Amino acid sequence: MKALIENIQHYCLHDGPGMRTTVFFKGCPLRCLWCSNPTTQRMPKELLQKADDCLGCGLCARVCPKGAVAFEPGKAPVIDRELCDDCGLCARECPGKALVMAGNEYTVEEVFDILKGDMLFYRNSGGGVTFSGGEVLSQSAFAVELAERCRRLGINTAMETSGFAPYERLLALADVMDHIFFDVKHLDDEAHRRLTGQPNALILDNIRRLGREKGGNVRIHLRLPLIPGLNDAPEHLDRYGAFAAGLEGIADLELLPYHRLGKNKYDMLGRGYALGDVPPPARDAVAAAVGRVREHAGHVKVLCVA
Ligand code: SF4
Ligand code: SF4
Repeated sequence: MKALIENIQHYCLHDGPGMRTTVFFKGCPLRCLWCSNPTTQRMPKELLQKADDCLGCGLCARVCPKGAVAFEPGKAPVIDRELCDDCGLCARECPGKALVMAGNEYTVEEVFDILKGDMLFYRNSGGGVTFSGGEVLSQSAFAVELAERCRRLGINTAMETSGFAPYERLLALADVMDHIFFDVKHLDDEAHRRLTGQPNALILDNIRRLGREKGGNVRIHLRLPLIPGLNDAPEHLDRYGAFAAGLEGIADLELLPYHRLGKNKYDMLGRGYALGDVPPPARDAVAAAVGRVREHAGHVKVLCVA
């Protein structure tokens, strides 16, 4: 079995306890406007351009069978994304690695061997592996098999998910995970569609059911990415706290303040950044939001994960 993986990142300190190795799966059914990993969204491999690394050789324009590359000496080439079909020929030839393909196919064995290489760090820090994306549930059979192998070696397992998938896939992962970080991005369906491109009914059903049926076996962390002007209105925060309080089997609720770290990836993909110049929320705004959610979250612990 093979999966398309965008990246495997070592020595991560987020999304689970201790030091972690994070596997970024490719493919996601959502298109969140603030996504910091747009290179994981689409399922086929995609051409990325790092214009600063260009050596100015013009080879890409010569090999492109689609005529998608315009090259002028002394300037980085311009890729016509309408013509480009992500065949990868230019990336194979590019001597400066200014053109690269996002996504590589791996077998379970290959990823497992890489993860095992960090065993000492897991042991010394109480860490483990985290599956991220993209959406892990879009390649769930692979993820289940990989997580089973990790668990047999005693490696702690965690995953991030949008929860937008048939419940059975979530259930299969829940049986091999120690932690699930479950994003619910907006409680209003119309707003959810506008911000992510998908409705929220399936996601809300899945978190309710998962908490009820599996909350005793796996630590489920509800997550709200806090995006200024999009989902941080006081009435939404009140409603969100009450929603968390009504769930069964939730370990805690984490608020993740918006950041702009993924912006340069949009440039590499030749795509615009939907949030323009929206700044990250100020410290006191985040503190106020946490306080507001807390007021309505009852017994659920509310944290801020910056
Ligand atoms: S092949 Fe690579 S280094 Fe050469 S012009 Fe194209 S992008 Fe630049
Ligand atoms: S990926 Fe293929 S089609 Fe796209 S610019 Fe490179 S060679 Fe041309």
